[in-house]
Order: sequence, then structure tokens, then C-alpha cells
Amino acid sequence: MQRYSLYIDGKRCESASGQWFNSDNPFTGAPWAQIARGNESDVDRAVHAAHRAFSSGAWKDLTPSARGLLLCRLADRIAEHASRLAEIEVRDNGKLFAEMHAQLQYLPQWFRYYGGLADKIQGDVIPLDKKGFFNFTRREPLGVVAIITPWNSPLMLLTWKLAPALAAGCTVVIKPSEFTSSSTLEWVELLDEVGFPPGVVNVVTGFGNEAGSALVSHPLVRKITFTGADSTGRRINEQAARDFKHVGLELGGKSPNIVFDDAKLEDAVNGAVSGIFAATGQTCIAGSRLLVQSGVYDEVVERVVALAKTARMGDPMHADTQVGPITTPPQYEKVLNYIDIAQEEGASLALGGKAATREECGAGWFVEPTIFTGVTNDMRIAQEEVFGPVLSVIRFDTEEEAVAIANDVRFGLGAGVWTSDIGRAFRMAERVESGTVWVNTYRAVSYLSPFGGYKDSGLGRENGIDAINEYLQTKSVWINT
Ligand code: NAD
Repeated sequence: MQRYSLYIDGKRCESASGQWFNSDNPFTGAPWAQIARGNESDVDRAVHAAHRAFSSGAWKDLTPSARGLLLCRLADRIAEHASRLAEIEVRDNGKLFAEMHAQLQYLPQWFRYYGGLADKIQGDVIPLDKKGFFNFTRREPLGVVAIITPWNSPLMLLTWKLAPALAAGCTVVIKPSEFTSSSTLEWVELLDEVGFPPGVVNVVTGFGNEAGSALVSHPLVRKITFTGADSTGRRINEQAARDFKHVGLELGGKSPNIVFDDAKLEDAVNGAVSGIFAATGQTCIAGSRLLVQSGVYDEVVERVVALAKTARMGDPMHADTQVGPITTPPQYEKVLNYIDIAQEEGASLALGGKAATREECGAGWFVEPTIFTGVTNDMRIAQEEVFGPVLSVIRFDTEEEAVAIANDVRFGLGAGVWTSDIGRAFRMAERVESGTVWVNTYRAVSYLSPFGGYKDSGLGRENGIDAINEYLQTKSVWINT
């Protein structure tokens, strides 16, 4: 079986623990690789390597345009290896090859964009209210950044953090999810080929409560950027606050997809189905609450159920598969448990509602696309993140009511609005409390456009120009003239 070791100071190395853990393929249910189980001592080595690379100037003191050029070269290498890396991601997380490949093909744009920004980081000259002084600001990198990523889109969510952090001049230690570590460890080979100085990027694999926790509490780490569950984010935030570390958090969601009577129904139905069932519902922006206005409620429900029923489940590597397995056994149990909870709470099952046992699903962890109607917003199925192929349909009468239901949840990551009324589109975009609002579309993201959460969905923003500021701090310099 293939083995993946740690990557510290530009070299592959075994963990001080001497232990390995399995990476399982969600489609076969069988292990396919072994990953080094990093511990506190490995984290300490990696953070010191990152700190040396930062404070020796190996990275920060390269000219910004030289740093940017390395990022652009890395982009080219990722583009060449997109297909191979996507295949590894599918083996680890069971998502469709078509989706992972499309993500990998798009990722080079992040490295090119932030590579291009590296030499545009500049301070200001401040017009003072005092004579005899000259004052200016410098924008300086924060230092060593800990990057902690989840299992659903490992390289994409890593890239959203890594590209701006490196462009800013920070060095990093990455802790990928224990369920999906191999693509990150394959990917670091490209850094060597491109010529990144040793220690700029380090990877320590392992478990959250061991390697992850050690990384968060390491005194030389200045910023933690995390994507994952809100419960983990809360713990990390509390731990980081003790040392006044900077924190960026991309957490969960319970996003409303809102269909008004005047929507183009074909688009809205397609958007509702792909909004929840793409990636088997395992995305933070899954449109897991479908709010439908009374006038079109019956028709929309009928069409959404009919379309979801046609979804082909099976091997995620096959081009015609539309719904793959759930990535991990605990997640599989969690999704089935929420299906039971919804029924106990009185929601009506309109589709699915059980583990999929079709032949084409093999031994994988599959759950049928599931739709509940008659959901009220106080039910747990409407309030808590399931992170699986489970849609809750909620009826509303007025625009006012749609806004109230959409916002009556502790999350605020994404929201979809389907309407032909331009005025309503603007009103809803203003009134819905979420980091992203899509009107007559859903799930679009770009390296150019800021992404992040309102309320319990997170802190800080990724993507776009602002993301580079998340890795910089301002120094004010006074010169007595
Ligand atoms: P998770 O919180 O269980 O794990 C995420 C990472 O945190 C893993 O690398 C894990 O090892 C690490 N970790 C766990 N405990 C830790 C600790 N005490 N200290 C340090 N690190 C620790 O999340 P997951 O199950 O991998 O991912 C699913 C969650 O991620 C969902 O809630 C989803 O909504 C969220 N997510 C959010 C976004 C976004 O951009 N907002 C994107 C994708 C996923």
C-alpha cells in the first residue's frame, strides 16, 4: 500500500511517532494509502522550519516579484498535474472526478492572481498634523501561518489560504484533514520542482486533537486559518485567543435557496437540485433549505423530486455518475441519523430517506438523495448542518416572511434567490444575512470575489484583493526630520 510521510524543511520525513493511519476510499470502503501520524514533536519541527525560513529572510526578503514568479510557476505545474491530483482526491473523498478535475483546473488562477499581487503590497505616506516628522506605513507579513483544512475539497480550500499567505511573505505549516491527506502530500512535490526555498511550506499530517491542536497552540505560530466544522472553529478560536493569535475561520452553513412565484422555474429547479445534491451535499454552501413561495410550491416540489430521482449514483470516477458516496463513515452515520430526526420531528419524506444499496454503489457509503417537505424552520433539520444529500423544503407566503425564515438560523454563508423582479433581487441581496448571495444562480465562486461567512459561519474573508490583507500587518514608521 502506498505510504505518505511528512514534509518538513523541504524534505520527506517519518513522524516521530513512528505510526501510520489508513486513508480509505469511500467508494470501495477499503484502505488505499497509509499516512504518517504526526504528533507534537513533528509540529514543533515543522513550525521551527517555517520560522527559520521566515526570519532568515529566505522567503520574506525575496523580492516580491520573485515571490510572485514562483507562485506563477507553481500555477503552471498544478495545471499540468490537474488530472492526476484530481484522481487522488477522488480516491480520498469520493467526490466526482469531473468536479474535482474542474476545481484543480481552476486553481492555478489563484496562484497567478496572488502571484500578481505580491509586488503590489504597498504602504502609505501619512500627511501628519505635526511639523518635523515624516510618517509612512509598511505592510509586513504576519509570520508563520498554520493552515488547517477539511476533507471535502482539500486542495481547493488549501489554495484559498496558501496563495495569499505566500504572496504576503508568510511561511506556512499545513495540517490537512486526516481523511484526505494524500493529495496535499503529492502536491508538495511540485514545490520542490518549482524551487521554493526549504521551510516555506511544511505539511504535518495527523489527527485534529493531536497534530492540529499542537499547531494551534505553538507559540511561534502567528495566525491560524481554518476551514471546517463550527464546533472545531470555536475551540480553535478560544485556544488562539489565549496567545492573541490572528484567526481566520471558514465554518459551516445552512444556506437558504429561495424560489419566488415569479422565478423562471426551470432554472430554479435545476439550481435547487444541484445546490444540494452536487458533491453529495458535502459543501459548506449546500443549499440545504429550499424556501418556496406558496403559488409555485406544489409545482416546484414535484419538479425537484422528479429531477432528483433521476440522479445516477455510483463510481465517482465514471463520467456519467451524478451522486457519489459520503466521504467518511462518521459522516455517513450522521446523515442517516438526521434523516431519522427529521421523520421524528414530523417532516414528510418525499424522496430517498435511506442508505443506497444499489449494485452500482458497491461497498461504498452511499445515501439516497433525500427530500423532506412540510419542514418548519424550528425543526433541527432546518437549523443544523447535515453536510449530506438532504434537502428541507419550507413554504412561505410573502417576501417579508422569506427574509425572516432565511435569517432565522445561526449560520450565514450563502443564499440563493430566484426571481424575475430586479427590485426584489436587490432588496433580497441587501436583507439576507450571508456572506454571499446568488441571484438566479447558485454555487458560483471565483478567486476574484470575496468569500466568507456572516454570524456563526466564520471570521474573515478569502479570495479577492482583501484576502491578502488577512496575512499582513501594518507598521507605522516615524522619522524625525
Ligand atoms: P473538522 O472541523 O472536523 O476538521 C477540519 C480540520 O480541523 C481537520 O484537519 C481536523 O483534523 C482539524 N481539527 C479537528 N479538531 C481540531 C483541533 N482541536 N485543533 C486543531 N485542528 C483540529 O471539519 P470536517 O468534518 O473536516 O469538514 C466539514 C466542515 O467543514 C463542515 O462543517 C463544513 O461546513 C465546513 N466547511 C466550510 C467551508 C467554508 O469555506 N466555510 C468549506 C468547506 C467545509
